[in-house]
Amino acid sequence: MDVRPAGIHHVTAIAGDPQANADFYLNVLGMRLVKRTVNFDSPDTYHLYYGDRAGNPGTIMTFFPWPGAPKGRIGAGQATTTTFSVPEGSLGWWDEHLRRLGVHATRPGERGEEDVLSLRDPDGLIIELAASADHHDTEPWDQAGVPAEHAIRGIRAVTLTEHDVEDTVQMLSGQLGFRLADENGDRMRFHTNASGQGVGTIVDVVAAPKAPRGLVAAGTVHHVAYRAPDGPVQEAWRQRLEREGVGVTEIRDRRYFTSIYFREPGGVLLEIATDGPGFDYDEPLLELGRSLRLPPWLEPNREQIASRLPELEVQR
Ligand code: ZN
Repeated sequence: MDVRPAGIHHVTAIAGDPQANADFYLNVLGMRLVKRTVNFDSPDTYHLYYGDRAGNPGTIMTFFPWPGAPKGRIGAGQATTTTFSVPEGSLGWWDEHLRRLGVHATRPGERGEEDVLSLRDPDGLIIELAASADHHDTEPWDQAGVPAEHAIRGIRAVTLTEHDVEDTVQMLSGQLGFRLADENGDRMRFHTNASGQGVGTIVDVVAAPKAPRGLVAAGTVHHVAYRAPDGPVQEAWRQRLEREGVGVTEIRDRRYFTSIYFREPGGVLLEIATDGPGFDYDEPLLELGRSLRLPPWLEPNREQIASRLPELEVQR
């Protein structure tokens, strides 16, 4: 059985104010709210999922927003940058769009063959938009502020920053089966598949021996999830990691997928999540994100849970 991951499934980060978070990802980045639920392990906190029209794996960015959350520190042992893919030729439009909304963005220059726009979300999380000819197999969300022709196609890459890259590289190219595609100064680029084409297939590892150690709190990535096509492959993966001495969790039910978690040697929390059952599992595709969804085991406490959650207005 091939237990190599098929690219990124989702990236999860911590945020402060949920309203500021939703306003940014929906109105500035033009993503769709594909699920409004709570942190299953801590149900007094929202878990907000943003993605493409159908919430396809590889397009999903999720947040645990805590009002008044302490600020984290971006640093070593973290996924320090999340890069989204936009169509080739769209960066000029994005530049203009961000300027109109008062969002500061810089163009750090070409990376490989890609032109990149770098910006921060309201909590300081580093986001990049990379213009890519690779249009992915996703379904761009269409809305007045960000029309489908320019919309985000999915997550293109994450960047892992490490004090010492050696053991991380060994896990990526060994247990995870990624392929070293390019090396440029302190940056190594891995592809999760043969070509580096397709959603979420790139991971950059940056050596930063002098960077401060990252502190996971608001404005930082909590974990990066990779895709398993189904439960049997996920289980095969879990067994293989266990056999190789990696501390990996049991399979956990996340309702829209099942998950296992483990850390790479540099400290970044990784997850393997199944493609199914998907975000239309408990509400119709047309209504994704409109109302608070709870798993059956939290449903009996709905009233209490809902009363503790902060207000969240989502423009339609
Ligand atoms: Zn996750």
